[in-house]
Amino acid sequence: MKPVMLLDRFYNKYIVKGILLAETPIHIGSSGESLDPVQVDNSVIKDSNGKPYIPGSSLKGVLRSYLETLLSSGIDERFKACLIVNDPCLGNKEQLDEIKNIQESVKANHDADRIIAEEIYKRLCTVCRIFGNPYFASKLTVNDCHLKGDAHLSIRDGVGIDRDTGTAADKKKYDFEQVDAGARFEFYMSVDNLEPEHEDILKLILKVLESGQLRVGGKTSVGLGCIRLTETKVYKIEQHNLRSYLMQGLKEEMRWQYV
Ligand SMILES: [Zn+2]
Repeated sequence: MKPVMLLDRFYNKYIVKGILLAETPIHIGSSGESLDPVQVDNSVIKDSNGKPYIPGSSLKGVLRSYLETLLSSGIDERFKACLIVNDPCLGNKEQLDEIKNIQESVKANHDADRIIAEEIYKRLCTVCRIFGNPYFASKLTVNDCHLKGDAHLSIRDGVGIDRDTGTAADKKKYDFEQVDAGARFEFYMSVDNLEPEHEDILKLILKVLESGQLRVGGKTSVGLGCIRLTETKVYKIEQHNLRSYLMQGLKEEMRWQYV
C-alpha cells in the first residue's frame, strides 16, 4: 500500500503566487459593532499599516465552499465533498467512537499517531483531505492578501441595498466603506503533501481563482467582492529540489505547469 501523504514528513509543496484584482468594489467588514450604538462601524478591515487587506481565512473559506458546491454536484466522480457544517464526512458519534477504539488498540504501537491519522484520513471526503476539518490539519494555507500599491476607499450609501423601507434618519447606519474596484492584493497560497491524484483539484482551484467567480466579504448579492487571480505563478517543490528551495528560495525551474 502506498503511504498516505500526511504532514509528518516532506513529500512536496506547491506554492501559488499572484495578484488578486478587485474586479468590483469589496467590503470585508472590520471586527464589527462599535460600542456607541449610534456610530455603527461599517468600515473595511485594515492591517497594522492601516491598509485594507483580504484575510487569508476568508478567502480560504469561500474557496472551500465553492469547491464543496462544485464537487457535491458530482462534476467529477473521483472527488467527494461533504457539507462541513451541516453534514460532515467525519463527526457523528459512531465514527468518532470507532476512531477512539482504534486509538485504544494501537496505543502501544510506536507509530500510533500515524496509524490514527491514516484511519481518519481514509474516512474524509476530498475537500476535508485538502482543507482540513476539526480532526485533521489543513494541507492548504492562504496567507493574508496585503495591498500592493494603493487603493481608493469610498463610503457607499447602503440604504437601497440593505432594506426596502426606512427613514432618512437611520440612513447613516447603512452607509459602508468599500475598497473600490481596481485594487490589487498580493496572493500567496501553499499546499503541502498534495496526493498526486489531487493535482486536478489544485488545477480546479486555480481555475476558479482565475475565473473571477469568487466573491469575498459582504454585500456579494449586490455584486460586491468579485476577485480574480492574475499574474499566476505556480511552483512545485519536491525532495530533489527542497534543499535548493530552502537555501535560495523559489526559482524559475521550479515552476509547475498547471494548464
Ligand atoms: Zn468532508
